[in-house]
Amino acid sequence: MARVVTLLAAAAALTTALALPAAYLFAAYGRLDGRLETSATLHAAEVAEMARANPAFWEFEDLHVTAPSHNGRAAVPERRSVFGANGKLVMEAGPEQGLAWPVLSASAPVREGERIIGQAEAARSFREELIATGLVSTSSVLLGGLIFLTLRTVPLRMLRRALERTAYLAAHDMLTGLPNRAIFGDRLTQALALARRNGHTVAVLCLDLDRFKEVNDTLGHAAGDKLLREVSARLSACLRESDTLARLGGDEFAVIQPQAAQPTDAESLARRIIAAIERPVGIDGHEVTVGVSVGIALAHPTREADPQRLMIEADLALYQVKERGRGDFCFFSPEMNARLMERRAMEADLRLALAEGHLRLHYQPQVALPSGRVIGAEALLRWTRPGHGNVPPDRFIGVAEETGLIAPIGAWALHEACREAAGWPEHLGVAVNVSAVQFRLPGLYEAVASALKASGLQPSRLELEITEGVLLNDTDDTLAMLNRLHALGVKIAMDDFGTGYSSLGYLQKFTFDKIKIDRSFIQNLGNDANSAAIVRAVVGITRSLGVRANAEGVENAGQADMLVAEGCGEVQGYHYGRPMPPGDFARLVAG
Ligand code: C2E
Ligand code: CA
Ligand code: CA
Repeated sequence: MARVVTLLAAAAALTTALALPAAYLFAAYGRLDGRLETSATLHAAEVAEMARANPAFWEFEDLHVTAPSHNGRAAVPERRSVFGANGKLVMEAGPEQGLAWPVLSASAPVREGERIIGQAEAARSFREELIATGLVSTSSVLLGGLIFLTLRTVPLRMLRRALERTAYLAAHDMLTGLPNRAIFGDRLTQALALARRNGHTVAVLCLDLDRFKEVNDTLGHAAGDKLLREVSARLSACLRESDTLARLGGDEFAVIQPQAAQPTDAESLARRIIAAIERPVGIDGHEVTVGVSVGIALAHPTREADPQRLMIEADLALYQVKERGRGDFCFFSPEMNARLMERRAMEADLRLALAEGHLRLHYQPQVALPSGRVIGAEALLRWTRPGHGNVPPDRFIGVAEETGLIAPIGAWALHEACREAAGWPEHLGVAVNVSAVQFRLPGLYEAVASALKASGLQPSRLELEITEGVLLNDTDDTLAMLNRLHALGVKIAMDDFGTGYSSLGYLQKFTFDKIKIDRSFIQNLGNDANSAAIVRAVVGITRSLGVRANAEGVENAGQADMLVAEGCGEVQGYHYGRPMPPGDFARLVAG
């Protein structure tokens, strides 16, 4: 590249040094040539005039007649000559000292009517122009040199800077200035080679921000960028000089921790990182709290470790943390591999089940207290997986959420439940679960609207059960969506109430139609005073808010009696009916 620049600079310099004097010379020659030609023509005309006045004039020999100077102007420094028809010089005039070399000349015929009687010639020295050309050459050579130097040094400097910048950009993440994945790979390879030689253990930590997507989606990308910069600053502050931090993309980061006492150092680093990231971040007037999950893999010097393998292991560990509930760390263990394979297989089977219609909904009666009348049912997913038997929803909903399959599965459940409920007596409603992930994915509103339209079910008979997870990042968008759904005429219930940590706050933000008290409280009603107090408090709150309460997981008459005593208006549980196939439920309510 530098060579090309030098060559281009040399070409530009040479062009300047040569072309400029050449052009000057060419122009000077042309100008002189033109002038001589005019001169010769005028001269010829004057001589013709003289010949007409004195026709014998050609006959004089050695006649020292001075050639005429046209229009009376001094002939100097031109030399004018007249030649007879035979080529003999007839007369001549010019500067005393003669013309300096080189001489240029032009001639024109002297005519008498049609007949040419002689030649008139004008000549002049070209020396002055040559000298001027020399001067021009000198300055253009200097100019060319200057051009060569600037062209060669300035672009080379610019080029070098551009190359350096490109190399930096290729190795670093633009947003945070941290090394990127490529550099991270190189450093890991080096660290592993060094560790093998020194007998050290290297730790790789893979980090993934929890709830980053929500910040990005709700506060916008600029806010997301600010958050990432703040996070990378906090992460950097957690590290030691010898550690390498990189941003692998999106909200994924990774750390190489070489030369440390493992696994203790990796663990304490993970704890420091989790604590640092958990602190709230102020962004554009909002207080945002994210968390981080950390997966750790160790490369022992005794084991042949390749960088890719190590990254996969750290990733698997990270995956495990996220599955367990985020905001924590975990070391890789070989069983994780097997679990991942199993999840992949489950995803493929689930996809197939959806496509081939192997998913089913069962319906669990919802009963009014104290009358004991069935007032509706909750639709619950059932899947018989070939070769595995019945897989409980708790096991496959997570996989469906991770893979995005929850959107089509949820839409199917909505259609199916509405279609089924449309055949029930009109006073019965149907409740459908909507997962937090499904709530965030596009298409929920459309799925609800189209399920209602296709089934003809009255919207007020459909209830959507959402968990606190939906409201966890309570944002305008979430509330707007809940209100849009409400505007369709459907009901919204808060599911699993009491299991989150700031439950009461949510009740202010949105007017739920129903609150379902989590079954963990109901199950402990008989033997735990706290649970009884909580149930009483929740029922009290719902009553004062004018919201219906549903107690879930009622398994025996004792629990039912206590709930009646507390004034709970609605129950659900094995005591009243297990989730059952649609046919069974239809018979139950028909009979
Ligand atoms: P959930 O929404 O809390 O559903 C109630 C769960 O409690 C159901 O479990 C039900 O069978 C169980 N249950 C009902 N009565 C009793 C009782 O008396 N004792 C006990 N021990 N359990 C009782 P299931 O069907 O296994 O569903 C588990 C979870 O899976 C549901 O919890 C819900 O979160 C999710 N799920 C089920 N179907 C769907 C669905 O269509 N969409 C979504 N997004 N999630 C679903
Ligand atoms: Ca539910
Ligand atoms: Ca529930």
